[in-house]
Amino acid sequence: MLSAQLNTVFKHTPCTTGSKGVPARATVVRRTKSYAAYAVRKCGFSSGAQTVNNKKCRTRVIRSSGRVKVSCIAAPPAVKSVYFFSKGRSDGDASMKQVLGGKGANLAEMCKIGLSVPPGFTITTETCSKYHSSGGQLPDEVWEQMLEGLALTEEAFGAKLGDQENPLLLSVRSGAAISMPGMMDTVLNLGLNDEVVVGLSKKSGERFAYDSYRRFLDMFGDVVLGIPHELYEQQLEAVKVAKGVQDDNELDVEGLKEVVEAYKQVYVDQGTSFPLDPLDQMKAAASAVFNSWESDRAKVYREVEGITGLLGTAVTVQTMVFGNMGETSGTGVCFTRDPSTGEKILYGEYLINAQGEDVVAGIRTPEPIARLAETLPEAFASLCANNALLEEHYQDMQDIEFTVQDGTLYMLQCRSGKRTGAGAVRMAVEMVDEGLVDIPKAVTMVTPGHIDQLLHPQFEDESSYADSVLGTGLPASPGAAVGVVAFSASDAEECKAAGIPCILVRVETSPEDVGGMSAAEGVLTARGGMTSHAAVVARGWGKTCVSGCAGLQVNDAEQTFTLGGITVRAGEYISLNGNTGEVIVGKVPLIPPTISGDLGKFMSWVDDFRTLKVLANADTPEDAAVARANGAEGIGLIRSEHMFFSGEERIAAMRKMIMANTTETRKAALMEILPFQRDDFEGIFQAMDGFPVTVRLLDPPLHEFLPDGDLDEIAAEMAALTGATEDEVMDRMEALSEVNPMLGFRGCRLAITYPEIAEMQARAILEAACNAQAAGVVVQPDIMVPLIGTLQEFKHQEKIVRATAAQVFAEKGTSVPYRVGTMIEIPRAALMAAQIAESAEFFSFGTNDLTQMTFGYSRDDVGKFIPIYLHEGILKHDPFEVIDFDGVGQLISMATKNGRAARPGLKVGVCGEQGGEPLSVEFFNREKLDYVSCSPFRVPIARLAAAQAAIKAAGQ
Ligand code: ADP
Ligand code: MG
Ligand code: MG
Repeated sequence: MLSAQLNTVFKHTPCTTGSKGVPARATVVRRTKSYAAYAVRKCGFSSGAQTVNNKKCRTRVIRSSGRVKVSCIAAPPAVKSVYFFSKGRSDGDASMKQVLGGKGANLAEMCKIGLSVPPGFTITTETCSKYHSSGGQLPDEVWEQMLEGLALTEEAFGAKLGDQENPLLLSVRSGAAISMPGMMDTVLNLGLNDEVVVGLSKKSGERFAYDSYRRFLDMFGDVVLGIPHELYEQQLEAVKVAKGVQDDNELDVEGLKEVVEAYKQVYVDQGTSFPLDPLDQMKAAASAVFNSWESDRAKVYREVEGITGLLGTAVTVQTMVFGNMGETSGTGVCFTRDPSTGEKILYGEYLINAQGEDVVAGIRTPEPIARLAETLPEAFASLCANNALLEEHYQDMQDIEFTVQDGTLYMLQCRSGKRTGAGAVRMAVEMVDEGLVDIPKAVTMVTPGHIDQLLHPQFEDESSYADSVLGTGLPASPGAAVGVVAFSASDAEECKAAGIPCILVRVETSPEDVGGMSAAEGVLTARGGMTSHAAVVARGWGKTCVSGCAGLQVNDAEQTFTLGGITVRAGEYISLNGNTGEVIVGKVPLIPPTISGDLGKFMSWVDDFRTLKVLANADTPEDAAVARANGAEGIGLIRSEHMFFSGEERIAAMRKMIMANTTETRKAALMEILPFQRDDFEGIFQAMDGFPVTVRLLDPPLHEFLPDGDLDEIAAEMAALTGATEDEVMDRMEALSEVNPMLGFRGCRLAITYPEIAEMQARAILEAACNAQAAGVVVQPDIMVPLIGTLQEFKHQEKIVRATAAQVFAEKGTSVPYRVGTMIEIPRAALMAAQIAESAEFFSFGTNDLTQMTFGYSRDDVGKFIPIYLHEGILKHDPFEVIDFDGVGQLISMATKNGRAARPGLKVGVCGEQGGEPLSVEFFNREKLDYVSCSPFRVPIARLAAAQAAIKAAGQ
């Protein structure tokens, strides 16, 4: 008895004797026509569970009267590697992005909801990783499943791959779980060869058939065999010149046939051959897509975008539909809303009589999508209906690729569309108004990166530069950018490394340019539409981009460009207005952004969800005011020493203090500093009325306050300032010099050695607080001792602060509530948290120093090796940007737990750079910290990150 499944299992896997190293055991075999019996005889299976070519099967070999009866029940394949889809039926769905890639998962979903999608199948991302781990081999069982998928596709579409009467052509497409636009290669029109093209001509016309064939020869050679695309371009140009035509689609059949012959010759000239068997083509193309995952440009993109932890790309093999079948066919891309502004209008472009790559490559200039309503009204109506359905289904703006074949619309791709910060906020707000999404969903639709974009500068006065406008291109990605002109990606990267803002100027960008685009402030291109490579990538990153600037002539050799009759050289400043498309010569002044309108509304929703407070690091009343305007709920860190740098008088007093040899002279210098500090603190208390203000006592090593330059000059300057001799100054400087100042005489070590420093600072803070309170301000000073490693250090400082407070309150005849707490930034302090919390009233993790000291990486020297560590995968993130969850995070977690056990309700926060970084904020939220504190400009980002972390945590 043979089960039906058996046939499926063995169909494509011939077994040969000895191939499994198993000798034939059955002596007599009844040769049925069945392949299974044959396999059993050849491979010598006995009864029981078997593995045939990695598939689990069960065979039963019954010997009776010299005959063998075989019953074999095939178990389902151990790993499903291929997922079929066709309209109304699909093995996968949108939730399977990790398995099928974004493209594959969404194609499956569109099929499921009944949209018209050409049938096909998707090979899993896991296969990509298997492919690479086996040294570039497509596993046999995957190939088998691909053949099954192909059979289903052929059946669904009613055509056969390689068939001369009724040929099926395929596209082979890539797609990882996270979209990487233009990063990987697509092969279209697969399945053609010299015979099939004849059949296709009969069915669909010669012109079309040969046009498709020449496209396939070019793409297959380029993508699969690595033959430079230019070689085909040259041949095409030659034929066009010979025929006297301008555009590709003006070539007649004879011309196209000549192109085909010339293209085939390119293969020969390159010493390879074009595989004639469509199955070989399919296998090679799928392998090429897997290979493209490891290409340099894909790797660079993943590095720039910080994409890690993916298995690889999926491969989708799909029936071709043809936009190049004449004037009733076409292809296009669109967004369901304007991705730049967020406005609810259909946005995109299309080309008549073209295949998809023509739109993206910017070879012909596409038509705006609205015109499709006139040229192909029925297809346009279907597109609009599908878009509405998809927006509702996905509850998000969609980025769509489609092809119209002879008037019929086919959906080729959909995904949540990339958008600018302004677009994201407007869409979120409007979708709530439309009732499409609820507020929690809307809050998750805007990324912290989007908010970041909106917090970037704008032009101060858009009317000021009218006379300097050289020309106008397409406003492909909004914002304002100012920088020097760079003509190559590598020049842009050099500018960035040198700290010079630059604008990358290219004829058009390609995926090879992404490194330079990331380094540049903005991008300007001569060619390409609103959906060109430059536009898509720039929008994704919130970089200002002006594309398709007609009249822009780029001369790479001369390192100049000419626009509007003016020639600009590399290194000269230009400005770009991404909202209008204007290109301006010179540096247009920028101003900081504001939170109002849609952004204001959106941010007001955000705060309803978060439990983590967001404070700011600010050192001046002005910064404190900015922080408050951005929604900060207090100051988490005042670096009190920064006040000394703002003004000659202040720094002079500080230098006198450093140079002081006796307590008396030191105290005298400190008394000069006191009024400055008090005034600043008072201003900050006012700005933060009602909120806590955390002041850190003096922290950095003293040498930071000395002037830069030649030692003799410094000595002379210091001598003049303090009245000491140069020799005395030299002695003092020698006494203060340190081998490793960051691990040296700084933090509380200074104020324990010179208690009068802590005394003066405590006085300045508390006098300011009393004064502010007298003026009606609600004050909440938190005084923070830096860099302790032992409880005794803390207690020493605490005693000074409390004694000073008692004095100040007595003098003022009033008091203010205050707390004394500490930074936790030395690993020992984290370890001793329980003990320290008995005295300290709050903890603030100084995650910059804590990271430095936990890793033993000098914060100031990491530039030398961190990029290499990231590249080599030794570190996943720079731990000074994203908190190291496993190591430093463990200290934070432990210290918080132990500290709160010792002192219930202990206030715990973070004031390092990571406090405003979204992944880190999520971690701090998980650890139930009370607050994060970050720079005033990052406050809105941290607010959103904290809200999203809370929404995510609630969902889990
Ligand atoms: P990318 O990931 O770079 O967008 P795609 O796989 O979407 O690559 O393919 C690029 C273009 O090729 C698409 O925009 C589409 O126009 C065209 N294309 C892909 N598959 C098909 C198909 N089955 N039929 C017709 N055109 C296709
Ligand atoms: Mg696409
Ligand atoms: Mg520190």
